[in-house]
Amino acid sequence: VIAVMQTTDGGEFRELCAARGITVTHQRQVLFELLLSVPGHPSPEEVYLRVKQQIPSISLATVYKNIHLFLRSGIFREVSLHHGSLRLELNQRPHHHLVCTVCKSIRDIDEAELKLAAIPGQLPGGFLAERFSIDILGRCAACQQKT
Ligand SMILES: [Zn+2]
Ligand SMILES: [Zn+2]
Repeated sequence: VIAVMQTTDGGEFRELCAARGITVTHQRQVLFELLLSVPGHPSPEEVYLRVKQQIPSISLATVYKNIHLFLRSGIFREVSLHHGSLRLELNQRPHHHLVCTVCKSIRDIDEAELKLAAIPGQLPGGFLAERFSIDILGRCAACQQKT
């Protein structure tokens, strides 16, 4: 599977913001573009350290505020809470998570790799399924080798 990384000249971000009633600022634009380029599931602190290299004057509070704005508006998603702190989901493809309960690492696993049966679109109570994501809890290879 080839991961397609979108390149943006800023137009895409402006459209996303316009559709959600968010004001476009230089800081938000830089943060958005940075998030598109970061692999995995970074914490806000990790994002802050990266964005600070481009905007030295930015504060951690501002990064938090804008990350929460992006999450609320659905521009980015949050990974589930098994690791106990906020982590951003930057993989846009359907996938599940292998969560290590020892070192709290989270690894993406493609739907195809898990070979799960598809869930029916219509579930009990009239619930309409749109997407699903499974967290598989356990110990990663590195943690299994530690005694
Ligand atoms: Zn581990
Ligand atoms: Zn993920």
